[in-house]
Amino acid sequence: MFNIILFGPPGSGKGTQSEKLIVKYGLKHLSTGDLLRHEISRQTPLGLEAEAFIDLGQLVPDSVVINMISAALDEHRGIKGFLFDGFPRTTEQAKALDDLLLQKNESIALFISLEVSKEELVKRLLNRGLTSGRSDDINQEIINARIEEYKNKTSAVADYYRPFNKVVSVKGEGSIEEIFSSLCIAIDKKLSGQDI
Ligand code: AMP
Repeated sequence: MFNIILFGPPGSGKGTQSEKLIVKYGLKHLSTGDLLRHEISRQTPLGLEAEAFIDLGQLVPDSVVINMISAALDEHRGIKGFLFDGFPRTTEQAKALDDLLLQKNESIALFISLEVSKEELVKRLLNRGLTSGRSDDINQEIINARIEEYKNKTSAVADYYRPFNKVVSVKGEGSIEEIFSSLCIAIDKKLSGQDI
């Protein structure tokens, strides 16, 4: 399997680029944000628990998302690989993912970090809020809280993967096609066995 983590702050384009990457590389898209929103729309106990955190722009507890990912890994077998989007968001989640993959003799091949300035992130999120129907995209205070969570808890996840020579940074500003092309270059390099 070829498993990729697409990493970056809220609004960095992970979702948009994931949609294109899964088509090109035949991967299964696993977005914890999408999975949580699905639970919320069905008003499940998990969804109701998660909603309170999401509405404040805070991370949902590790145990909730780890269990969700564990179930998703079991559900999709015999596939080319997973594209993780919005997960892991803490070092605990990264360790848990490594353990879950190891149990299946699998690992992360590549960790791609999308780099976008804070001004651009806020602009994109507010703009997305006009059409996404996501309550956490509309309010500037919640957007700031999400970016703070990223700085305080999530950005360190890149350091967790760095010693394994799996981390590559890609400029997340420019046109969707330009960014997609940079991502493909990084992935193709790894797929062909070259050093990243
Ligand atoms: P996203 O769609 O990835 O921007 O996620 C929306 C919200 O869902 C986040 O602001 C968090 O509250 C929650 N969330 C998504 N993924 C995770 C995760 N891996 N760990 C904790 N909370 C998450």
